[in-house]
Amino acid sequence: MRKHYDIVVIGAGPAALVFLKFLSDRFNVAVFERLREVGVIEHCTGIVSHRVIDTVGKPALKSILNKFSSLRILTENNIELRIIPSKPVYVLDRVRYVKELFDTVKDKYDFYFATKVENIKVKDNVMKTELSSKANVCSNIIVNAEGAIQRIRKSILGKTAVGLAKIYGVQADCKGKVDNVDEFTVFFSDRFAKEFFGWIVPLNSNKVRIGIGGKNVSLDLLNTFIKFVSSRNIVLVKEKIKVFGGPILRTPPFWKDHYQGVVMLGDAGFHVKPITGGGLYVHSMFAKKLAEALSFKRNELINALNTYEKLTRELRLKLKVQGAISKTFHKLPLKEKENIFRAIGGLGELKEVDYDHHEKLLSTIIGKPKLICRLFSKAQFVTKNLVYSLKLFFQ
Ligand SMILES: Cc1cc2nc3c(=O)[nH]c(=O)nc-3n(C[C@H](O)[C@H](O)[C@H](O)COP(=O)(O)OP(=O)(O)OC[C@H]3O[C@@H](n4cnc5c(N)ncnc54)[C@H](O)[C@@H]3O)c2cc1C
Repeated sequence: MRKHYDIVVIGAGPAALVFLKFLSDRFNVAVFERLREVGVIEHCTGIVSHRVIDTVGKPALKSILNKFSSLRILTENNIELRIIPSKPVYVLDRVRYVKELFDTVKDKYDFYFATKVENIKVKDNVMKTELSSKANVCSNIIVNAEGAIQRIRKSILGKTAVGLAKIYGVQADCKGKVDNVDEFTVFFSDRFAKEFFGWIVPLNSNKVRIGIGGKNVSLDLLNTFIKFVSSRNIVLVKEKIKVFGGPILRTPPFWKDHYQGVVMLGDAGFHVKPITGGGLYVHSMFAKKLAEALSFKRNELINALNTYEKLTRELRLKLKVQGAISKTFHKLPLKEKENIFRAIGGLGELKEVDYDHHEKLLSTIIGKPKLICRLFSKAQFVTKNLVYSLKLFFQ
């Protein structure tokens, strides 16, 4: 191993690999991954918009399991709203996606597997990365793509100003079927998925991914949820194949996520859509911009990080707006969420919806004064969330 690299990358998850895909191969890069290979941990459902396919290209295209023309919002009290996205939505084979991404970059950079980054130190513009193998390596910048654990992030920045909006998701792939394989269901219930939602996603005509996210999710609760949705004939489940899950982030990114040459990427940088926790679209946008800024200003890496910050400002703003909506919406009791679905749903269908930019739905809500009055009548609730939203906005 070299003693000095231009760039050290922590983690070989999808965010790091998309970044490497767009990075100029003129850089010397070392990637450290604590696991023995890529794609081992499959915590994600894998739902993405057309933008991921368009941006990432072949690795995403080759990993498509199913394509959806609609999504159905369903509540425990049987309120139903059909969302028709402006462009199709896909579910990816998340393990294959990461492996395909790896194949595009494995010969360009130095990958070290089963090597955990224990610590990083920054002195006189040189970063020192301390490894589990007891070796050290220096670099001009570090891209920290360690995921939602955020251990390295916390070691540099301490805790976030606003408490982490982190919840857990657990899901099971099952042999089974739904009536319409071109549609997936997002299920709202205070009993099964408090402050988040459940999902039923057909992977093909014989396989369904069923999950719940929220504050108190557990395997037992997932089993009860599967029985419940089966009893309502929402899905026919024959057999559970495997169970998996992990932490879902709902905090939007900060205005700035580089500190003295260490830049946070992916879940480590809160690069997620705060309403759904979806990270694959958001981090592919950040990863591409970061790679482009660094490749363009190859000899001024620290300046390049300031350029990257400017290039991503608009996206950060949109995600901060989503963060405020997420905090307010997910805290509402089921009854109030149902009122919103009724108010915006009209005849039960919402067309031309942007699957990634949920903040655009605000204009639909602003056009419903009665709904706004109802929400604001809950003064204490609104004040608490406004304060939170302001903190989110400035951090
Ligand atoms: C239940 C669930 C469902 C989800 N569903 C969706 C969805 O449908 N659509 C969507 O877009 N997003 C979804 N997400 C979110 C998405 O999975 C994440 O945003 C995405 O995986 C983040 O990618 P990442 O590369 O930042 O982190 P990760 O995928 O977590 O990768 C981080 C990598 O870094 C390695 N690592 C960590 N620490 C170290 C260290 N110290 N040294 C070396 N290596 C290290 C890890 O082993 C790992 O390989 C879901 C998440 C969950 C939990």
